[in-house]
Order: sequence, then structure tokens, then C-alpha cells
Amino acid sequence: MEDCIFCKIINKEIPSEAVYEDDYVLCIKDINPMAPVHLLVLTKKHICCANVIDETNSLYAAKAFEAVAKIAKQAGIDKNGYRVVNNCGDDGGQTVKHLHFHILGGKKLPIEMA
Ligand code: AMP
Ligand code: ZN
Repeated sequence: MEDCIFCKIINKEIPSEAVYEDDYVLCIKDINPMAPVHLLVLTKKHICCANVIDETNSLYAAKAFEAVAKIAKQAGIDKNGYRVVNNCGDDGGQTVKHLHFHILGGKKLPIEMA
């Protein structure tokens, strides 16, 4: 996708601070961290959002969650816990229309549902 910032990051056209990479995902540090640990797991396939996950692309979502477990251990937040967030669409607060999962941790997070 030509104008997608996360595709550009995956293709190394835009720099990022990567902490993990495999065939399916790239995990980078969020540029505007909302917690001591704030990472983004980007699928290497351009999928706009959770709304279009189906049997043709769900492997990427599954692999993203496999990566979450590895990345949390690597970041040292697996014991105390963390939050995995996906924002979908405008009401969900999604600003980058490329499927990604936020990993937030490193402190006790407030419960905010709305
Ligand atoms: P969302 O609002 O769920 O779509 O999340 C998008 C996230 O991407 C935000 O937390 C931004 O801070 C983050 N972000 C945007 N541009 C970059 C970038 N170039 N490198 C790292 N994180 C970014
Ligand atoms: Zn993209």
C-alpha cells in the first residue's frame, strides 16, 4: 500500500526502532509511548483493520499473538502482565489503517473502557 506508514516502516523506507521481527510481523517501539513499555506489533501483510480478518488472512493475526508472548518475555513484562490493544475504525480510535496490536506495560495500567 503506497501511502501506508506502517507498510513503509516494514519495507524500511521509514526508520523505526524494531525490537522483534519474523516472517509475519514486525514489532516496533511506539513513537508516542503511553506507558513505560509501548510496542506495536505490525502484520507484514497490509490488512486495514480487525474488521476484515477472515480465513484468508487470519494467520497474520494468529502469528501476531504468538509474537506478543515472545516479545513480552523479551521486554520483561510477562510476569507482571500487560495489555494488548487493537483499535478498529474511527470510533475505536484507529489512526493508522494497518492492522497492529499495541503492547502496553511496565506499570499498573488504569482501566479505561471509554
Ligand atoms: P492507532 O491509533 O491504534 O492506529 O495507533 C497508531 C499508533 O502508531 C500510535 O500510538 C502512534 O503513536 C504510532 N505511530 C505513528 N507513527 C509512528 C511511527 N512512525 N513510528 C512508531 N509509531 C508510530
Ligand atoms: Zn500498510
